[in-house]
Amino acid sequence: MENVVIIGTGPAGYTAAIYAARADLSPLILTGAQPGGQLTTTTDVENFPGFPEGVMGPDLMFKMQEQATKFGARIDFQTVEKIEKEEDGTFSLLCGKNTIQTKTVIVSSGASARYLGLPGELELTQSGAGLTACATCDGAFYRDVPVCVIGGGDSACEEATFLTKFASKVYLIVRRDELRASKVMAKRALDHDKIEVIWNSGIHEYLLNDDGKICGVKLQDTQDGSESNLDVNAVFMAIGHTPNTGFLNGLVDLDESGYALQNPGTTSTKTPGIYAAGDVADTVYRQAITAAGQGCAAALEAEKYIADLED
Ligand code: NDP
Repeated sequence: MENVVIIGTGPAGYTAAIYAARADLSPLILTGAQPGGQLTTTTDVENFPGFPEGVMGPDLMFKMQEQATKFGARIDFQTVEKIEKEEDGTFSLLCGKNTIQTKTVIVSSGASARYLGLPGELELTQSGAGLTACATCDGAFYRDVPVCVIGGGDSACEEATFLTKFASKVYLIVRRDELRASKVMAKRALDHDKIEVIWNSGIHEYLLNDDGKICGVKLQDTQDGSESNLDVNAVFMAIGHTPNTGFLNGLVDLDESGYALQNPGTTSTKTPGIYAAGDVADTVYRQAITAAGQGCAAALEAEKYIADLED
């Protein structure tokens, strides 16, 4: 019987592991399919406190892993397919042929940014070639050059507006003739003189220069199918995220987009002993540091829950 099993190895998961390990709970961390989480798909991280020179996303995750294992956290490269609650209030985690029993679960399985599904996207995100889903993280790398944002929701409008601080021009590529974003966010983007909206369009292909970096995109009109090229040095994806909550088996309530719902002001969920931390429960901030903070909170709450059980 484990004390704490932490599902996911992004900043929330590793921070929870550091705190739970230092509380002598010997947590088990399950990596899932993407060890290290979304930060392993970015290059420089310049906004994580403590790294004034910036740090590479994968290096940051490796340091967090080192710190967690140093205090006794154990890592297992398994993916949880289903959580079941037992009659005695403990949990069984079904991972392929293995079943893990635990008193508490910290769900920090993250969310995955959606991409278009065009060929070569994974390589382009990993090589700093100009394809990213995080303007906050990568916007400052594209000063005085044109960039584009794809999407028509709040994220797209917010990212486009943010990018005007750096880019010479921001194209907002929208597949319909209207935005999904809230009025206030939409107005801010539409009124900005550096932002130009390209309506009824989708990206059909990424155009690369000899160094393999993005130098433009091929657009396709969603109404008449006509094609055109647009010169940009970076493409910011803002077509939504998919939270990784498919295995929760009704033990955690989800919002209409599938994000885990926490009890207000805590990381606890509707099932005592199950906590949710980080992007899996965050539709607003989605930052490594906010995820880490929630991971800390979840570990402290789990520790108290176990202590109460023992009492
Ligand atoms: P949304 O799901 O709200 O919007 C996604 C956008 O991407 C839509 O315009 C959608 O188009 C478009 N899209 C989806 N798939 C494709 C595709 N394959 N090709 C082109 N376009 C595509 O996601 P967001 O991330 O914007 O927002 C998620 C949630 O977070 C929302 O509830 C939002 O309000 C919230 N949020 C709040 C913020 C704030 O308050 N500060 C900031 C950011 C997000 P279509 O409209 O045609 O479906």
